[in-house]
Amino acid sequence: MTDLTSSGDSKNGAQGDGALSDDIAFMRAALSLARRAGSHDEVPVGAVIVKNGQVVGQGFNQPVGSHDPSAHAEICALRDAGQTLENYRLPGCTLYVTIEPCTMCLGAIIHARIERLVFGAAEPRYGAVSSGQRLLENGVYNHELEVSSGILADEASALMKQFFRQRRDRRVGKEPAPEAGSGSQ
Ligand SMILES: [Zn+2]
Repeated sequence: MTDLTSSGDSKNGAQGDGALSDDIAFMRAALSLARRAGSHDEVPVGAVIVKNGQVVGQGFNQPVGSHDPSAHAEICALRDAGQTLENYRLPGCTLYVTIEPCTMCLGAIIHARIERLVFGAAEPRYGAVSSGQRLLENGVYNHELEVSSGILADEASALMKQFFRQRRDRRVGKEPAPEAGSGSQ
């Protein structure tokens, strides 16, 4: 069965400290890709795919700029890794992503036969692993995906909050104040 253990802290007894520090290092790489997405005015999510300690794929969220509804960070990273490894299946790979994957991305991760998924912050509305639909729990998939979560979650969610706050502030700035022109002053 699928391991849904949240192991963002020292609770994860299956891994040594070295593995956890690797997870943190690769999640930092994913976070820097998330910042890149944010600098392109895209929702800041980043992903890297690692095999045998090497980054074989990376991607950042870019559906708006690329006119591609499927261009989430995970999908971009899967495509990149597929090209690197010249394989449509990515066995033995770990995918790191800053935010919990949505249904589309989790489906693609399973199609790719990713061995392990590590995500940072939960996505309460669209997350398909430990939030929302919890696709791995219904026993439909016969591929086992190991899952760890909570790695650098605070940084990942801070990036998201900052992005949406700035976008909101900008929108508010563009529109005339509600009272303007109403004659109340
Ligand atoms: Zn997605």
